[in-house]
Amino acid sequence: MEESNREKSQPGKETHRRGFLGALAGAGACAVAGTVTQQALNMGQGMAATPAPLAEPTGSVILRMQRDLEESLAAKRPIDWHMVVDTRKCIGCDACTVACRAENPCGPAGQFRKVVQLEVRFWPQPWVIFKPSNCLQCDNAPCARAVPAGMITRRPDGIVEFNRDQLKGNYAKAAADACPVGAIHIDDGKTFTQDSPRPQEYERRSFVENGKACSRTPGANPLAGSARKCTFCSHLLDTGMLPACVTTCVGGAMYFGDANNPNSLLYEITQGRHYFEGYQNQGLKPRVIYFTESMPDTREIPCLACHESRSQQL
Ligand code: SF4
Ligand code: SF4
Repeated sequence: MEESNREKSQPGKETHRRGFLGALAGAGACAVAGTVTQQALNMGQGMAATPAPLAEPTGSVILRMQRDLEESLAAKRPIDWHMVVDTRKCIGCDACTVACRAENPCGPAGQFRKVVQLEVRFWPQPWVIFKPSNCLQCDNAPCARAVPAGMITRRPDGIVEFNRDQLKGNYAKAAADACPVGAIHIDDGKTFTQDSPRPQEYERRSFVENGKACSRTPGANPLAGSARKCTFCSHLLDTGMLPACVTTCVGGAMYFGDANNPNSLLYEITQGRHYFEGYQNQGLKPRVIYFTESMPDTREIPCLACHESRSQQL
């Protein structure tokens, strides 16, 4: 992927990232047959073994992450934004999806975020997990490799940016087809209410995406025909605010912060934790990380639960 000059001038960034990821204990269960076998045995026995209690943060998580964010912005050193998702805390309410749509207006053609519901066929009762999903902000992004250099770039803080003026037509389709998690949609330029008796003004409001002003006014929508996806709410981050989905999650399933800040909650919450390695194994180098541990007194969810599911994509 093409990187800006600013990013090239950040020696040691990859070292920080490796240190952050190294602190996570990759479950890699999909790649470790023994783990899957043990989980299958647990399934056969009914309930899985109860894991040790997990260290959970105390106090207001949102306020802590907000302070961390302000600290990172003020430090004037390289930032490495990451999102961490604890699916055990997601209750599937889709509040984050609604918040994302409110913050980042999308039309009927798609959205930046979705909560995927996965049904696990445990006997005797089924089990459901919810997986909030958005663009992984891959360091090694297949979407960027599918189009000419310069159409998809990476900011110094790791956020993958689309050039809305260039990433249209066949290029938009090529990028969307290349994304392994289906995170990209192509804006159809429409609003939900444009053909109704009372088109709603809120759908035409101005907003900022990838550093450029936009509105979805029919006929004057610069995003029409362009590929779009989650931006980590970069317009909010740049003004010192957390992403909309993170601050809206009622279950506290979303964490966000700077992997280069060892004092941050993001850094603290990830120490020694097990995470889903499937995206790492695909070589994507994602910036969205999913914990894989079960809560005390809940079941172990085998990797096959997701891989047998009809859809784990957006
Ligand atoms: S998740 Fe998909 S859209 Fe996002 S950077 Fe990776 S390949 Fe590109
Ligand atoms: S970070 Fe922002 S753009 Fe991305 S899914 Fe969350 S609310 Fe949507």
